[in-house]
Amino acid sequence: MLNVPPQAFPAPSSQQRAAAGGRAKVPLKPGRSLMDWIRLTKSGKDMTGLKGRLIEVTEDELAKHNKKEDCWICIRGFVYNVTPYMEYHPGGEDELMKAAGTDGTDLFDQVHRWVNYESMLKECLVGRMAVKPIAAPKEITSVSEEKKQLNGMLPEKKVLGASSKDLTPSYDWFQTDNLITIVIYTKQKGMNAELVILDCENKRLRGEIIVDDYSYLLEVDLDHAVQEDMAVNIAEKVGKVEIILKKKDNVHWKILGQPLENHNTFMKRTDRGLFYRKCKLVSKTEVTHDTKLFCLLLPESTHLHVPTGQHVYLKQIIAGTEVVKPYTPVLPFLPLDFQEPSCHDSAHLYLMIKIYSCGLFTQALDRLQIGDYISVSSPEGSFKKSQVQTSEDLFLLAAGTGFTPMVKLLNFALTEVSCLRTVKLIFFNRTEDDILWRNQLEQLALKDERFEVQFILSQPVRDWVGKQGMISPSLLSEFVKRSRKDSKVLICICGPTPFTEQGVQYLKDLGYSQEEVHPFTA
Ligand code: FAD
Ligand code: NAD
Repeated sequence: MLNVPPQAFPAPSSQQRAAAGGRAKVPLKPGRSLMDWIRLTKSGKDMTGLKGRLIEVTEDELAKHNKKEDCWICIRGFVYNVTPYMEYHPGGEDELMKAAGTDGTDLFDQVHRWVNYESMLKECLVGRMAVKPIAAPKEITSVSEEKKQLNGMLPEKKVLGASSKDLTPSYDWFQTDNLITIVIYTKQKGMNAELVILDCENKRLRGEIIVDDYSYLLEVDLDHAVQEDMAVNIAEKVGKVEIILKKKDNVHWKILGQPLENHNTFMKRTDRGLFYRKCKLVSKTEVTHDTKLFCLLLPESTHLHVPTGQHVYLKQIIAGTEVVKPYTPVLPFLPLDFQEPSCHDSAHLYLMIKIYSCGLFTQALDRLQIGDYISVSSPEGSFKKSQVQTSEDLFLLAAGTGFTPMVKLLNFALTEVSCLRTVKLIFFNRTEDDILWRNQLEQLALKDERFEVQFILSQPVRDWVGKQGMISPSLLSEFVKRSRKDSKVLICICGPTPFTEQGVQYLKDLGYSQEEVHPFTA
């Protein structure tokens, strides 16, 4: 719906536009880019037809505005007049019309909950949905009870049904003269650093524990100040997470602090809003003529490890509007020695980003100076390491910056998956100059006999003797072959949307099952 998808960018004449089909990929008319939309919203034009007045909207009223030329949509209780946005929606008018005159929250969340519609559509805000009177529940928990101070007693948890109650994590805390220790009992085996996300800024502590598709949140305004550095200990087998904070002053804390809005909740990850922290740009180095490696430093009081195959969202204010785009962290380089799990530097985040000459977000990114800050979200993504853990053959089909999720995946596969016999990267680019980390990939292929790389160019220049062309059934049947008749195979695919969609279809036609193919998407 109200997406600003990365898939919106192909220029009208590009190959991507031509092949685009399905959701969120329609050609926009000239003058209908996100920047044009931002300009229109800042022009002072009355976007709602209500001259800036906000109204209460009933369901009946909302339902009346269900036409292209008069379209209102409700998202999370707020109603927007999206009529002027129709032509700017990268997913197309029809996609937007699916929610016309109704509550589009679920549809929005399914497609792109990360898009900051509040900022994008603030000039289109009509008002709030009128609250329907509901019968009073028999027992009402008073707000003051909910908001009571945290003294180690566990307040009532919002969330899930009774059956899931036993799975809900809980916490406790204790102190010494210098330290505050918070213990979270996750009730999950196999806890690891990637499942624990912590941030502490200005006494505000936020600890998120990922439990499969769910998230447990501890969110407290601490009673006293703490130092920036904190320690996290994870007892993997028993699922216990210890957060150790250093007191700034050696005073005795009577309570841990005041609970914040989502404190002690356990809910579906997709129902939690994205959380951002400000990271400092510490270096920016050239990878190719148009692609750079950005190194961001996480705050000292943040504990965040982006799992293999997952991405983060970067947020910037561009022309007064918050714009959010996804990027997949990579490693600073391709490690060549895969003898043992590499010890990653967890203080930095490396992003390999292609700067488009007319790209809204990447141009703004490229203008960032060393020392500037940018907001980075917690990780998201559907890839699970277990998908590759039992594979014997791993095929990575990457196009352009679609190479980024393959970096950590390669490292993980070659380091930690002992049953893998072959790992093959088939890397599609326009020209030789566009190939990312070519040298490193070739070195790796020389060093590790399980690994092979094949470069395929769609617009080769001069005397390219290698393979040419675009993704096709014949190319895939030549390169994607099981090493043995019954090998367990995983094929990961990432690149421009048409590339990924075509790849998935061709692989299906070649007989690979859905479980054997993982497409990376937002
Ligand atoms: P836009 O303003 O959206 O595009 C403006 C113009 O730029 C277009 O009209 C077109 O002329 C040009 N343009 C942009 N992209 C293309 C293209 N592919 N082909 C031809 N012309 C184009 N990108 C990375 O560089 N690194 C990553 O690690 C990365 N990870 C991603 C992870 C996910 C899950 C997804 C969905 C996307 C990822 N992307 C990544 C893409 C990224 O999110 C942005 O879409 C991209 O940076 C372009 O943003 P922009 O605002 O600069 O361009
Ligand atoms: P590009 O435009 O330079 O194209 C690279 C290669 O992709 C081409 O040489 C061609 O072989 C293939 N290709 C391009 N358009 C195609 C089409 N219409 N049909 C079939 N094949 C096509 O690529 P780029 O500018 O580096 O873009 C990379 C893309 O990867 C972006 O769309 C980005 O959003 C996406 N990406 C997605 C993720 C993710 O979902 N996790 C991560 C990183 C990048």
